Amino acid sequence: MSSSEAARLLDAAHFAALKHAAQRRKDPQGTPYINHSLGVAQILAQEAGVADVAVLQAALLHDTVEDTDTTFAEIEGRFGEDVRRLVEEVTDDKTLPKAERKRLQVEHAARGSRGARLLKLADKLHNLRDLNRCTPQGWSEDRVQEYFLWASEVVKGLHGTSPPLEEKLQELFKARGISV
Ligand code: NDP
Ligand code: ZN
Repeated sequence: MSSSEAARLLDAAHFAALKHAAQRRKDPQGTPYINHSLGVAQILAQEAGVADVAVLQAALLHDTVEDTDTTFAEIEGRFGEDVRRLVEEVTDDKTLPKAERKRLQVEHAARGSRGARLLKLADKLHNLRDLNRCTPQGWSEDRVQEYFLWASEVVKGLHGTSPPLEEKLQELFKARGISV
């Protein structure tokens, strides 16, 4: 990796850390939100062998527009069009009701660019590992299982994107009795 690529990657990590600074994950410990963004980027680099800096930057930034005041214009101005497009592809339309947003994730999974599909797989893998590590506050076991089921539907649409990530996801689904 060149020094300019390292600088671009760290700029995205720094930007995401500032944007998510006040947010916590839903686990009982209230883990800082940025741990998820870093975890998704790490899965892509270490477990899927992704070296494309734009995809890794998009992983670091993937929840900034959905969950903070960040705009797509801001992402494009600072990180360029490729990164903006990837973040846009994995951002839910928050004006839609939650159930509709979840349905659209299943419907749109197969249509994404390769970078967006890789990002989706890593995002789901990180969230499912988190759910196995501990149950979010206020979630019943049924709700956790429902989340795994929905994630398995999204992952079906991503088939053929990354064998190593898909194998790890299949193992998690199998352990929950979900056939894929
Ligand atoms: P949410 O969408 O509310 O939460 C899941 C999301 O939270 C993940 O996709 C992840 O998103 C983020 N997240 C934050 N912290 C964690 C963590 N520690 N582990 C995993 N994910 C984390 O939940 P649901 O998917 O259940 O969606 C809500 C839907 O569930 C609604 O449609 C509602 O009707 C229904 N519902 C069901 C209940 C039940 O008991 N079955 C009860 C209440 C609601 P990201 O990657 O973007 O951060
Ligand atoms: Zn995410």
